[in-house]
Amino acid sequence: MTFLHAKTALLPEGWAEDVALRIEAGRIVEVSTGVKAAGAVDCLLPAVANLHSHMFQRAMAGMTEYRSAGQDSFWTWRSLMYRFLDRLTPEDVEAIAGMVMVEMAEAGYASVAEFHYLHHGVNGVRYDDLAEMSARIASAAAETGLGLTHLPVLYERGGCDGRALSAGQLRFGNTPDQFAELWAAAQRALRGLPADTVLGVAPHSLRAASAAGIALAAGLDPATPVHIHVAEQVAEVDEVLAQMGARPVQWLLDNQDLSARWCLIHATQMQAFETEGMARAGAVAGLCPITEANLGDGIFDGARYLAAGGRFGVGSDSNVRISLSEELRLLEYSQRLGLRARAVLAREGQSVGRVLYQGAAEGGALAAGRASGAIRVGNWADLMALDCSGPDLAASSGDMILDSFIFASDDRVVSEVWSAGRHIVSGGRHAAREAVTARYAKTVARLRGAL
Ligand code: ZN
Repeated sequence: MTFLHAKTALLPEGWAEDVALRIEAGRIVEVSTGVKAAGAVDCLLPAVANLHSHMFQRAMAGMTEYRSAGQDSFWTWRSLMYRFLDRLTPEDVEAIAGMVMVEMAEAGYASVAEFHYLHHGVNGVRYDDLAEMSARIASAAAETGLGLTHLPVLYERGGCDGRALSAGQLRFGNTPDQFAELWAAAQRALRGLPADTVLGVAPHSLRAASAAGIALAAGLDPATPVHIHVAEQVAEVDEVLAQMGARPVQWLLDNQDLSARWCLIHATQMQAFETEGMARAGAVAGLCPITEANLGDGIFDGARYLAAGGRFGVGSDSNVRISLSEELRLLEYSQRLGLRARAVLAREGQSVGRVLYQGAAEGGALAAGRASGAIRVGNWADLMALDCSGPDLAASSGDMILDSFIFASDDRVVSEVWSAGRHIVSGGRHAAREAVTARYAKTVARLRGAL
């Protein structure tokens, strides 16, 4: 049993002073207020789940920021990514995942939903254990203590017309039947992890997964989260429209039972009826503002979506940069730049920081299939503490702490993180940082040297 004290904390009913939590077996079992205690953290928040990541891509961050012949785009970035991943061994993937998880924890995330599509060896050769790569992600989660929602990806084809996988896609490929086998193997790979671990599914996109494949994946466990990439690029929307007779989000609305179980990643290229339909369906929008900016995807129609009651969370996707505060800041700033207005995602009288943070905590938890996202009895103790002693937060209280954290400060003020009660960041540092960084540095030097 652990007791945790905070000078101020964000509870479901609002801000409270001198809060005490009792944590048992990773869950919050009691919340009291008006309890002063020595050693209390300054500001305690429900920690956010990072709802979208491809960890291996972290190792190519910074390698694609030059202009090649012609106009660079998402698609030229993707061919470099395919070239890069052909070098990755299971050991590399584990070393990169460890580093990414440490960085996520230090940014304030308590868990991650890993959209995991690198399954096989070079040229698509199966490993002896079909879920070898899942086991590597699981090892990194065990080492770092970050909560894991593992999402094995179904990737069947090279495009909507059913064309074969390209050479660069062979390591992702499975038929729906092979995928069911892989999913069962992934279940075994997660067995040693703590009870808060979740296994979901992720049909990659309407480009790469067939309607039958999506139905099979979603039916493997009807209680588990389903994530899918959707409407990230104009060319992708055009392809889906030409082959399937509807825009991607429109097709999902018409053909799938979209609900809170579903997380639609990106959903950048939508028409108003799709944005509103998606909000009404209760699916979570998985927004990745840093990656979407980096890849030139476009701007999510956030104002319309939130006005329609839509749920959202944030993810670090390509992991070109891992920062919760920056992800939330850019989400609002992209709206401001697009609409030439301020405080876009808040309604009158609301704090933008509060809307962003609380929305991402609640939506992220839903997308991760994790009972968390609020400091509430029964939830996992996914918690984050901010140090308010420095210049950015010193004179702040209540919602202004969140506004200052997101707009005026950065991850340096994240002091403590607990994931399902595991105290993984202390004094701003993850305990395994040194060992994990040394291993990552060697891995990445070899990978980049070889390119
Ligand atoms: Zn993605």
